[in-house]
Amino acid sequence: MESLVAAADFGADAVYAAGKAYGLRAFADNLTTDEMAKAAALLHSRNKRLYIALNAVFHPADFRGLEAYVSSIAEAGADAFIVTDPGVMATVKRIAPHIPIHISTQANTTNAQSARFWHEQGASRVILARELSLAEIADIRANTPKELELEAFVHGAMCIAYSGRCLLSGVLTGRSGNGGACAQPCRWEYRISEKGYPDEYFPISSDERGTYVLNSKDLCMIEHLKDMIDAGIVSLKIEGRMKSAYYVACVTRAYRRALDDALAGRPFDKNLLEEIDKAGSRAYTTGFFYGNPREQGQDTVRGKVERTYDFVGVVKAPTGEDGWTLFEQRGKFCVGDSLEVLSPDGVAEMKVVGLMTPDGEQRECAPHPKEMLKVLSTGRMKPGDMLRKKR
Ligand code: SF4
Repeated sequence: MESLVAAADFGADAVYAAGKAYGLRAFADNLTTDEMAKAAALLHSRNKRLYIALNAVFHPADFRGLEAYVSSIAEAGADAFIVTDPGVMATVKRIAPHIPIHISTQANTTNAQSARFWHEQGASRVILARELSLAEIADIRANTPKELELEAFVHGAMCIAYSGRCLLSGVLTGRSGNGGACAQPCRWEYRISEKGYPDEYFPISSDERGTYVLNSKDLCMIEHLKDMIDAGIVSLKIEGRMKSAYYVACVTRAYRRALDDALAGRPFDKNLLEEIDKAGSRAYTTGFFYGNPREQGQDTVRGKVERTYDFVGVVKAPTGEDGWTLFEQRGKFCVGDSLEVLSPDGVAEMKVVGLMTPDGEQRECAPHPKEMLKVLSTGRMKPGDMLRKKR
């Protein structure tokens, strides 16, 4: 819920999420049906939408209880279902015929014929495969009914396999990527060993840190939104379901501004790249949009996300007349530190002048995760603002 609210606060027009079942992020903090109803009400009050993903791989047993589940999501106020499986689509159409259906990127729609097929089945939107070029997207746009909306991912983690076709995690860990439980073994470091010499490893790369031969860079299209609009994309999707609310806030805000600039004909603001970096990432790629990136799409020297800033707190109440602000701690910081305040309107610097508990007990540092504290600072803040500290 915190990430969903951050997405809405920081500029998203819609948020996609999953319930406790059938989504593609089994380990994400998915929504209960009650939370979905609250999320839908909150988003609708701000003229935004909630899309619920039902895009895992469905086996026969998974259909037990699906009808009741779809019905409860419909009652909660979802604005669309994101589906992959045709059987799930048929169930949604039967149980909630009034709710639009979006075809998940997991369905791998890579041509106009497939897109038309889904439209004829009743889909209002197709979330295109991430392996398409902009020229191919323009071709799909030109050869599909204009009522069919086309959506594409613009930012976030990429896979080394076609979306929805990766077996790596299932094979190596027993956790199925397509069942929503990916252990991300594509990010691990690999070496070659020879049969009979189990303790000897042959490095694959010349870099002393080893090599991450399967590790894709993250997608980042923030500089190229005009090209995506021109190709016919009407909805830009930011991947964020396993990310922190802080990441969601940073990236959403940057894309909101880049999109508003692109639509108004203003040039791209290069400062937004720095804002994206502050959220933390692997290296970036433009994916397949300008052709197959081949080795340029991989980060073979590091598997980890790198961050230049740490998320240290989220504001819970407006700054009082006395200058103190209630916040929830998310990372350690101390009196005397300089922080940045990320808000939907901009980024401001502040100095931490004092810290205390809500009862008034003075503190020098804020070391305990999730503790509610008050900070005395040079700036004014409002609920939902994020505090971050340079590493
Ligand atoms: S192992 Fe990597 S490539 Fe495969 S599904 Fe998981 S994240 Fe994607």
